[in-house]
Formats: sequence, C-alpha cells, structure tokens
Amino acid sequence: MFSIALLLIITLALGLFWRAIFSARLKRQKDDRTCLLKELSRLGQLKEELNSENSLLNNKFDDTLTLYEMTKDVCKSLDEGKVFSIFSKNLKKHIGVGDCRYIKDSADLIKYENYTIFPLNLEENQVAGYLAVDRILDADKEKFGILAQQFLIGLRRALFYQKVQGLTITDMLTNVYCRRYFLERFNEELRRSKKNKLSLSFLMIDIDNFKQFNDRYGHLVGDAILRQVSKTIREAVRQIDFIGRYGGEEISVVLAETGREQANFAAERIRQAIALGVIKVYDEELKVTVSIGVSTFPDNTTNMQNLIEMADQALYLAKETGKNKVCFSP
Ligand code: GH3
Ligand code: MG
Ligand code: MG
Repeated sequence: MFSIALLLIITLALGLFWRAIFSARLKRQKDDRTCLLKELSRLGQLKEELNSENSLLNNKFDDTLTLYEMTKDVCKSLDEGKVFSIFSKNLKKHIGVGDCRYIKDSADLIKYENYTIFPLNLEENQVAGYLAVDRILDADKEKFGILAQQFLIGLRRALFYQKVQGLTITDMLTNVYCRRYFLERFNEELRRSKKNKLSLSFLMIDIDNFKQFNDRYGHLVGDAILRQVSKTIREAVRQIDFIGRYGGEEISVVLAETGREQANFAAERIRQAIALGVIKVYDEELKVTVSIGVSTFPDNTTNMQNLIEMADQALYLAKETGKNKVCFSP
C-alpha cells in the first residue's frame, strides 16, 4: 500500500516536473516566435525603407545623367544660338513644356506675359538674358531651373569665346577690325564677289594733316580724333560693309556688292559726314577732314593687293590735289 502511494507520489512529482519543463519550453518557444515576428516586421520595414531609398537614388541617378547629358550637349557649340537650340531640344526630352525662348533684351519680355520667366544670372548682378517658357507645370519648375543652369554654362562659354574672338580681331583704339583680320575678310569677300559675279569697292581713308593735330593738341587728342573718325565711318556705311584700321591713321573699308558709281556715293557720304561734323575732345572743338582713294573690282583689277595699291595711288592723288576729297583709281 505504501509502495503504491509512493509510486503515485513519484509519478505525480514526475508529471509535475515534466509539465513545468514543457510549459517553460512552450513559453520560450512562444517568446522566440514573438521575437521572430517582431524581427520579421522590422525587416519588412527595413525593406520598404531600402526600396524607397533605392528609388530615390535611381531618380537622383536619372537626374545626374540628364544633367551630364545636357551639359555635354550644350558645350558642343560656341555659337549662342546653337547652344540654345541644343538646350531647348534636350529640355523637351526631359520635361513636358510648350514653347521655350531665349530672350536677350529685357524690353522683349513684354511679348511673353503668359510665359514663366527665368533670368540667366551671370556674376556681379549681370543678367545674360532670360528663358521664357510656356505651359510648365509647377512640379517641373525646380527641374527646369536646374537644367537652365546647364544652358547658362554653355552660354557663358559662348559669350566668353565671342569676347576673346572680338578682342583678337578688333583694334582696341578704333574698335574696327585690326589689319590682319580685315585683310582676311577682304580676301573672303573678294572670293565671294568673283564666285557670284558681284562688284566690290575698296576705300583707303586717311586723316588730313593729322600730324598737326598731334603736334598741337597732343597724342591723346589725336587718339580721340581717330576714334571719332572711325565711328563716323561706321555710321556712314551699311551692315554688310566692313572697316579695318589699315595703318596708323589710315582706315580702310570694303563696300560689298558695290560698283564704282555707288562707291562714289558712299565715299562722299563718309567724307561729308566727317567734314561737316565737329569733334569735341576735352575743351577743344575740332574740324577734321579726310581724303579717300577708291578702287573697284572688277573694273580696276581682280587682285586684292592690286586693289589696295590702286586705292592708295588714288588717295595720294587726293592729297596732292587739295585733300578733303574722293579720288578714284582710273
Ligand atoms: P596728310 O594730310 O598728308 O595725311 O598728313 P598727315 O599729317 O596726316 O600725315 P603723316 O603721315 O605725316 O602723319 C600721320 C601721323 O599719324 C603720324 C603719326 O604720329 C600719327 N599716328 C599714327 N598712329 C597714331 C595713333 O594711333 N595715335 C595718334 N595720336 N597718332 C598716330
Ligand atoms: Mg594723314
Ligand atoms: Mg597716313
């Protein structure tokens, strides 16, 4: 009886013992499962974060690539107009916009009242111009601004090139072409005239008694006279004609598509404009005159050097026969 009771007690104790062990294990498993579930949800969150970061990076990559492509393309040309046309083509690939214009003069902005205007700022408060864009979404404005910066990079390069180009071909004192570039253009124009069977006239203009002005008023006044005479000549000729400083106080002009008779009108117009004007320098009011020698292609010769020499001889004749006059190569 006692042994049966003992057996029962032992069995009960064992049962309790195993139950305790099982329930502890069960609890541990439950805890583990909760931990795993928590971990799983954290991983899910992490995955979502990574996905959104990835799409952000992808967008950034796309933007960087767009910017890179845009900069590469707009820097292909040094011509202001071409830079804009490359920009505007590229722009339409990336943003849905309507018409886009490059406006240089702020006075023209009034024509684009309904457009969104983006100023193109250079350094020191200078504005290179404006981009006017039609039908741009608010959401695209920031992107447009960033792309416009790439256009500005190309534009800056083109403007700088123009400036350097201008400096190398322009005579600093008179602002007309320097002799080397003038002769290059003269040669080209003569070739074009030959090809298209057009006339061309060449003027050699020399200031009368210039040395006396220098001697009497000094070289600075002489320089100012030279500058003003060049300006008057520029104002008296057409856009297609071009002017160069041939020597110290000799200015030459190529009158494109111009025969002998019209050249006479042009040369007389120049002579009179200078003779009738008054040049104000410091406190002085000076009367200046010029003599002009003219030669014409093809009447006189077909060779550039000969045209120059013939105009020079005609100029010599003008000086010899009284100055302040126009003489033609016979
Ligand atoms: P003519 O009526 O026969 O042409 O007489 P001229 O005095 O104009 O001619 P000349 O050749 O005797 O003198 C030209 C002068 O031009 C001499 C030179 O000192 C001056 N000259 C040349 N280049 C410049 C310049 O850049 N600035 C100034 N101030 N003078 C110059
Ligand atoms: Mg002279
Ligand atoms: Mg001279």
